[in-house]
Amino acid sequence: MNDYTALVTGGNKGIGKHIARLLAAEGHTVYVGSRDPGRGQRAVEEIGAGARLLVLDVTDPDSIAKAATQVDRLDVLVNNAGISVSPARPADTGVEELRRTYETNVFGVVAVTSAFLPALRRSAHPRIVNISSGTASLTWSTNPNPQFTPGNGGAAAYRSSKAALNAFTVFYAQTLAEDGFKVNALAPGLRATDLSPGAAATGGDPAEAAHGALRLALLPDDGPTGGFFSWDGTLVPW
Ligand code: NAP
Repeated sequence: MNDYTALVTGGNKGIGKHIARLLAAEGHTVYVGSRDPGRGQRAVEEIGAGARLLVLDVTDPDSIAKAATQVDRLDVLVNNAGISVSPARPADTGVEELRRTYETNVFGVVAVTSAFLPALRRSAHPRIVNISSGTASLTWSTNPNPQFTPGNGGAAAYRSSKAALNAFTVFYAQTLAEDGFKVNALAPGLRATDLSPGAAATGGDPAEAAHGALRLALLPDDGPTGGFFSWDGTLVPW
């Protein structure tokens, strides 16, 4: 089982680059999605054997369409590209902020998934991993989990976008189950990346989170679908 073809959006840095590196290390072919060709090429060279550049801006319909023509069969799609533009609470969140966040974190995922569905349907074991966030859990938001700090309605645009992504994860899982797809969401935990000042300052190792994504990317045919999993494999409440 080492001849899979995978795509990781936003694979040029952060958690995405670690996911791409792990997939390549397992012997799979990995398209490193990057909106900037230079940043993507550097990641591809760093990862080495198995990695290929796929220029892909998840908010640009032309870029998505062009990228989809370059991939014939796809076994694993990791919707990892994401942004967090503000820690604001709802009352201080402008609609523009909300639109910008949803463009990448929600509309981008749906557009990319739709464009790559034909290639995924050519796989015998299609898998989709949506990189969500524990901060999207409405259960944890109302009964704060000790591991989860940004309660009290903060980062409303980001957290609600990931809650919408969770909803799409369930809907894709339900509608694609008969075709053998496994579609799951991952909460990677707070990681030291460029995503937000909070993540960079207090986050853990992004490589650890990538192992959780790898597990969902390579699920066996009797594995779960429509679930929300933490990086360590435990279920996260919706
Ligand atoms: P990161 O280091 O900032 O990486 C984000 C990646 O997404 C970058 O490669 C970035 O590309 C890419 N990206 C952003 N907008 C894009 C677009 N329009 N088209 C294509 N690529 C785009 O952040 P990260 O922490 O690794 O985040 C990865 C995922 O994990 C995100 O979905 C994030 O929400 C999620 N997550 C992170 C944490 C955390 O604590 N870090 C916690 C929970 C969930 P550029 O280099 O071109 O900007």
